[in-house]
Amino acid sequence: MSHPFIPLSVPNFEGNEEKYVNDAVKSTWVSTGGGYVTKFEEDIAAYVKMPRAVATASGTAALHLALIISGVGAGHEVLVPALTFIAAVNPVKYANAQPIFVDCDDYLCIDPVKVKEFLQTNCQIVDGKTINKTTGAQVKAIMAVHVFGNLCQMEALMDIAKEYNLILIEDATEALGTYCKEGRYAGKFAGTIGDVGCYSFNGNKIITTGGGGMLVSNHDDWAAHAKHLSTQAKSDEVRFYHDEIGYNYRMTNLQAALGVAQMECLEKFISVKERNYDYYVKAIHGKNGLEILPFRSDTRSNKWFYSVLLKDCEKSTDDILKGMSEDKIQTRPIWALISDLEPYRDCQRTSLSNANYYFKRVVNIPCTTNLTLEDAKIVADRLLKITK
Ligand SMILES: *Cc1c(COP(=O)(O)O)cnc(C)c1O
Repeated sequence: MSHPFIPLSVPNFEGNEEKYVNDAVKSTWVSTGGGYVTKFEEDIAAYVKMPRAVATASGTAALHLALIISGVGAGHEVLVPALTFIAAVNPVKYANAQPIFVDCDDYLCIDPVKVKEFLQTNCQIVDGKTINKTTGAQVKAIMAVHVFGNLCQMEALMDIAKEYNLILIEDATEALGTYCKEGRYAGKFAGTIGDVGCYSFNGNKIITTGGGGMLVSNHDDWAAHAKHLSTQAKSDEVRFYHDEIGYNYRMTNLQAALGVAQMECLEKFISVKERNYDYYVKAIHGKNGLEILPFRSDTRSNKWFYSVLLKDCEKSTDDILKGMSEDKIQTRPIWALISDLEPYRDCQRTSLSNANYYFKRVVNIPCTTNLTLEDAKIVADRLLKITK
């Protein structure tokens, strides 16, 4: 039986996208002025319950600004996950700092136990600063990435950040809509717990503006600083005075028009993600040596990406990719460890045994927000057939 191509994750424009984008075009406000940017910033801020949000050209740009406003610069080091998308780590280099790679836990997020172990054995606190005994550099921040919509262990990470006087930056680019249901941060959204949080609206994210990002901070003057840096650090509205080195990291009104329409659909998108995730668990988990990785039960996750673990399965991730693609189904292996990539081979790291385990065994399966249950069944059936 033949079926159309089933993509991994593509945009879903069933709402007011065309209406608002056309409105922006008609108004001729297509660039960095116009009402949609402010509206989109306000919508995101209200949704994640923060006083303000700052729109940027991309999630990567938001992360770069997050590091700068946190005071991360030359001579500093940042603890980062080894198993994630490279855009969480490259900005550390843009800021002239160095990454230190840390292993993941069983939810694929940075492991606080490994973070703490590294700080305890490799660092000492001198005058309130955490100094890396190997390099002599100051460890300044933790980059906590909420991988695939799974919230990091925020209580443990926040405790560590406090003890070692570190800034906690949340890369919530994959986790818009994820929040804590229990514990110290009950009701708090991913991105709003640490010092700074970043979101992304790239085409594959849960909502998209084509390309774009957003930054929120628990220090209000930091958010204002990010806005200033993103707009070329212009310090006089009329004259061309600029009081520091700024960036053109603004979001355009066209992008924001798309974003406003997408925000109207976010909760609906998450409910589809949940429904399809539950279906995949029922259809696949525990069969043919396959598991579907869980999302933490003390959170409401946006369930952005679904991970199939080839636990006791003789097939490799390559076999799955090939077998699925022959049946017009797009799947994806999890990222190569960033610490193994050319630009980062020489960086310091903790043991990465867990990250290496998951790197070899995780495949992402279609999770688009308009994926029907019929499509999900085709995906599950094919997966079970090729792993038999
Ligand atoms: C998508 C993503 C980014 C970057 O966002 P862009 O908007 O594509 O620049 C950063 N970190 C992670 C973990 C991501 O998945």
